Parts: sequence; C-alpha cells; structure tokens
Amino acid sequence: MKKYDVIIIGAGAAGLTAARHALENGRRTAVFDIGDNPARKVALSGGGRCNFTNAAAAHNRYFGRNQDFVRGAIARICPDDMLQWARERHNLSFVEKSPGQYFCVQGAGAVVDALMADCNDADFYFNASVRDVAKTSDGFLVQAGRIQAQCQSIIIATGGISFPAAGVSDAGYVIAKNFGHKIVPVRPALCAIATKRFSDELAGVSVPVEIRIAGETIRDDMLFTHFGIGGPAAYRATVRDMSGGMEINLAPGMDVAAIMRMAKQNSGRKSAAGVLGAILPARVAKWAAPNAGKNIADYKDCEIDAICDRICRIRLDADEIKLHGMQSAEIVRGGIDTDGVSSKTMESKICPGMFFAGEVLDIAGDLGGFNLHWAWASGAVAGKNA
Ligand SMILES: Cc1cc2nc3c(=O)[nH]c(=O)nc-3n(C[C@H](O)[C@H](O)[C@H](O)COP(=O)(O)OP(=O)(O)OC[C@H]3O[C@@H](n4cnc5c(N)ncnc54)[C@H](O)[C@@H]3O)c2cc1C
Repeated sequence: MKKYDVIIIGAGAAGLTAARHALENGRRTAVFDIGDNPARKVALSGGGRCNFTNAAAAHNRYFGRNQDFVRGAIARICPDDMLQWARERHNLSFVEKSPGQYFCVQGAGAVVDALMADCNDADFYFNASVRDVAKTSDGFLVQAGRIQAQCQSIIIATGGISFPAAGVSDAGYVIAKNFGHKIVPVRPALCAIATKRFSDELAGVSVPVEIRIAGETIRDDMLFTHFGIGGPAAYRATVRDMSGGMEINLAPGMDVAAIMRMAKQNSGRKSAAGVLGAILPARVAKWAAPNAGKNIADYKDCEIDAICDRICRIRLDADEIKLHGMQSAEIVRGGIDTDGVSSKTMESKICPGMFFAGEVLDIAGDLGGFNLHWAWASGAVAGKNA
C-alpha cells in the first residue's frame, strides 16, 4: 500500500492549492479526485475567463454561521499574493472587469494548467471516488474503490454539491460527519430566483436595481427571466440570508413620484407608461403602468403612489422566493460547520491531522471572484499546516 505524508481529497481549486503548499514543505503528497481531469469548476469559472480573485476580499463578503472564520486565511493569502503567484510564476495576466474584480486574460484553462504545473511532484489518482476514510494509529487510511493509501494528514477539499454536471459528491460532508463534525444544511446559492411576481413579457430585460436584503443594500444589474429574476443582483441576493425576504427598487436613486407629478402638470396627455419610459426600459414601464388609454393628468395622487410602490418597493417575502436549484447554482450555502475547525490552520478541532479547505466548509462568498479566493486562501493554509 502507498504511504504519503498528505492525502488531499479533491483536485479542485482548494485541493490543488493545498497540494502546492504541502509539496513546498517537502511533504509526499497525493491527490484523489472523482473525475477524470482536475479543477473542472475552475475551468468553467467566469464563463471560461475565470474571475480569479477580488481585491475587496474581506470577511463582510463571506456568508455562513461564522463570517469571521475567513479573516485569518484571507489575511495570510490576500488577492495580491494570488495575482503575484499567477503573474510571476505562470506569466498569466489579468483584466479588472469592475474595480478589483480580476479575470484571467489567458482564460480559465490556463489557470488550471498553472495549478497543475505546481503539483508535478504529487501523485494523482483520477476516477477515484473516496467514500471511506478510517483513522489508524499514526494517521488515516483512504479507500477509493480498489485503491488504498495511507497518510499522516488528510485534507478534505471536495467542494460543494451544486452544479452536478461538473461532477460533485457529498462525500466531504459524510466523512466529516463520521468524524463528529456538524453539517450546516446545504442550499443552492449564486443562482436565479423563481417568483411569479413579474410578467413573462419582461423576460430578457436587464435593469440596474437596488435590492435590500438581510440589512444590506445590493446595487447591481438584474435580469428578468421567464420564471423570475436572475443577473448579478439576484445572484448576490441568494448568497445572503433570505429568511426575511427582500425588497427590490427598479429605479434606484430616482424620485419616481416627483417625476410623475411633474409630468401630470406639464405633459398631462402622455400615458403613465410613456412618462416612465424616460427612466425605465419600455417593457418595465408598461408592466408598472399597464393602463395605456389613460392620460397621466387623469391619475389621482394615490394611483401615482401605487405605481411608485410597484416600481420602487417590490417586496418579495421568503415564501414567494424559490431558488432555481442545485442544477445551475454556482455554489452552495452551508457545509461543514466552522465551529469544529481551527481558522488558523484549517485543522479539525475534533480529529487532529484532518484538515478542510474550500467550499466544503460552511463559507459562501459573494459573486465576483470571492469563492475562488476563499478556495485559494483556505487551501494554502491547510496545505502549509498539513
Ligand atoms: C459555472 C460556475 C462558474 C463559477 N465561476 C466562478 C468565478 O468566476 N469566480 C469564483 O470565485 N467562483 C466561481 N465559481 C465557484 C467556484 O468555482 C467554487 O467555489 C470553487 O471551485 C470551489 O473550490 P473547491 O476546491 O472548494 O471545490 P471544487 O473546485 O468544486 O473542487 C472539488 C473537487 O473535489 C472532487 N470530489 C468531490 N467528491 C469527491 C470524492 N468523493 N472523491 C474524490 N474527489 C471528489 C470534485 O470532483 C472536484 O474536483 C463558479 C462555479 C460554477 C459552478
């Protein structure tokens, strides 16, 4: 049977970063993966352009039972460290799509190649689905089908269970649970929202919106879809706590009531939708004020207020919101409870020698490169300490 210092379960973003750091410490390292090639979600990331990291990575862009858990790892491995690694060691270059949001110019495939190039000295076992990990007197016994291997330290980096087309499993949760760890229930996040509130006729229209949710205000673009809403603003809402519902403003920063009242005075023969068409896409204006035959001059103030509410204060209660499902979600919320894990080393507080990294933990990042950054940072910390 093969013996290693470190075995990593999962050749994804976190697992490969952990492998690089374990190898740099001179540790004999093996990586097991359920698929036949590495880092498949990295290859898909950013629509193939890999939103690699975000300069705004800080605890307030991460969600889970304990937001503060990310502080240590992100302080140790900051966005600049990762950009420096990619630029200096692998000649990769980056563009900032929005300030601080870095995409790889050479594409996501080049990021996967860079991760793998630094793991040349590791043994890789592909098509190796690990379900069983047993504690031995001096470490762990790992079983994947007929393959058995021993190690002193093990790193669980099996990721989340969303986007099953990429090849996912819940083995990380099962193994952690077997060793006494608690699992925070898992749900899809960074995904579209199904709601019946809007009309089918709006599908395809994108508007800049403000969404108020869980005490925060998200300002970003929202896309109407055939089943509800998507686009960055809706995606970002789904990573927050949705139990209190949310409120959407389709005309942020605009005094819609004042605009309508002024039109009532000055352009009374226009329709309400015609007036709103100056500040909203025509289809949204028509949805908000559907009575095409009525002039704005004929609207009572209370009717104008009702239209303003329909535009600026769209309240979606929790029971009106359905997440679009694991099939298309970029990440999950929930996972291995961070209470049982050291934020300094990523080592289990229950089972010494067992480490965790990446999305398998109850840490979900905002849209914009934060999830990969968490995988890099937690993977590096686990790999250095394992
Ligand atoms: C379509 C899409 C686009 C995305 N775009 C971005 C983006 O641009 N920027 C960003 O920051 N984030 C993005 N994300 C999220 C990001 O990809 C993940 O958060 C990140 O990959 C998590 O890293 P990880 O190493 O924890 O898990 P993963 O990268 O998912 O790796 C886990 C690995 O473990 C393996 N595994 C699972 N179970 C077993 C088992 N039983 N035995 C052996 N191996 C196993 C899996 O095969 C996988 O290779 C995107 C996600 C998706 C789905």
